[in-house]
Amino acid sequence: MIEDGWLLSTNPATGDEAGRVPVADEKAVVAAVERAKAAAIWWQSIGFEGRKVRLLRWRTLLVERIQELAELAHSEAGKPVTDGIIEVTAAVEHLDWAAKNAKRVLGPRKVRTRLLLAEHSGHVEYLPFGVVGVIGPWNYPIVTPIGPISGALAAGNTVVFKPSEYTPVVGQWLADTFAEVVPEHPVLQAVHGFGDVGGALCRSGVGKVSFTGSTATGKKVMMACAENLVPVVIEAGGKDALIVDADADVSAAAEAAVWGSMTNAGQTCIGIERVYAVAPVYDAFVEAVVEKAGKLRTGQEIGPITMPKQLDIIRDHIEDALAKGGRAVLGGASSVQAPYVAPTVLVDVPADSSEMREETFGPTLTITKVRDADEAVEKANDTPYGLGGSVFAKKNGIRIARRLRSGMVAVNGTLTFVGMGNLPFGGVGESGFGRIHGEDGLREFARPKAITVRRAKSLLPAMTFERTPAQVQQIVKALRLLYGRKP
Ligand code: NAD
Repeated sequence: MIEDGWLLSTNPATGDEAGRVPVADEKAVVAAVERAKAAAIWWQSIGFEGRKVRLLRWRTLLVERIQELAELAHSEAGKPVTDGIIEVTAAVEHLDWAAKNAKRVLGPRKVRTRLLLAEHSGHVEYLPFGVVGVIGPWNYPIVTPIGPISGALAAGNTVVFKPSEYTPVVGQWLADTFAEVVPEHPVLQAVHGFGDVGGALCRSGVGKVSFTGSTATGKKVMMACAENLVPVVIEAGGKDALIVDADADVSAAAEAAVWGSMTNAGQTCIGIERVYAVAPVYDAFVEAVVEKAGKLRTGQEIGPITMPKQLDIIRDHIEDALAKGGRAVLGGASSVQAPYVAPTVLVDVPADSSEMREETFGPTLTITKVRDADEAVEKANDTPYGLGGSVFAKKNGIRIARRLRSGMVAVNGTLTFVGMGNLPFGGVGESGFGRIHGEDGLREFARPKAITVRRAKSLLPAMTFERTPAQVQQIVKALRLLYGRKP
């Protein structure tokens, strides 16, 4: 809600005000980007080492104030404080890794000389874009922006961050604490408001945009960025699946399925929404999931649904699943009691129901019995999304993981890939493209620059008008010798 130029943030569990921040208009967004452009000159001038020291200072601040930040996320997004602590832990890992590895990954390096043009050496380095615009969601208001922010900052860019309108106070806290450790220039700024402010950021003269949010908004962000050919990273939604093979540890798989689907009340982009369990373990798996999920309490492990309008979507999906022949083995449509949704486990849900096809974003899980792992893979891949996934198996875990059409898979675990700073994170298809985290995530926020340096006179000059016909013949001869058919 906006009141007198202030964006009011509310606690989803109580409706109480959680804080307020000033709303930006288009002019304010452009002004922030102009300040960021000036700050980028200084930020680049201090080099990888100077940036590393400062980014690690921010990392340490986050560790020292982890409780405060987790409590802020709790009051604004509703997530249990312990979940907030785990979220900060992942954010700290990404910040630490990006700060320590940017020079190695992005710094100047020589490439191996090729025989053609052997008289020139080749060099590559990765230069920052200048200012990167980061647009974030509310469901993980700490780690989702810190992923691209740490990559962009480590690469030498400054950042203007537009947090979700549901979690602006956490977003402002991140910018304010960064300014505490880097007071010299506005290297990380936050601008606040609804989608129009995100759109203004796309059109403000930034060098790149990193978007995390829904697929529908991702398409709008791309359209806005296309106006000025601004490159984008799109981290969008998902409908991730977990596969349980015949030799899986059923109890561990059930524990992972329950946590993967119900942590953060199911409001997780890489949350498990579908399970495909092979026939021999199906009954034991369903029983274990119901037993474990049945112990979770709303208002305790299961926080409120952050966006009130999502409650209707969750109810619609459950009702559609039941109307089409699915069965609730735990919970059901009555599980939706604003602002909470109690754990709901559904079986025999037809593949064409919205609960199987669309992002539900609630603590619900469907379990489908399949003949074997081949059928599980086929069904898991039957979605336009392709973000993460999980496999529980002993013998064929990695083989099955490779066949899942997604950007990330955890074998005998779930969501684990988001916690490793050196692994790329991102999806395929309607889940987006581009990567944050790891080496690919650092390169996403820099453009490669190629340089050649002459180190000797050309024996066979090709790139000059002064070459002779005889030299051209020599070049052809050399080419045949190198790459022609061998007698
Ligand atoms: P959303 O798309 O509604 O909003 C995301 C951000 O985009 C917000 O800051 C919003 O203000 C802004 N925005 C809205 N309209 C805009 C426009 N026209 N131009 C520019 N910016 C605009 O998403 P949400 O509800 O905040 O987040 C939930 C979604 O995010 C889910 O679909 C979830 O799967 C996805 N998500 C993806 C990842 C990932 O890494 N792939 C991580 C977390 C969440």
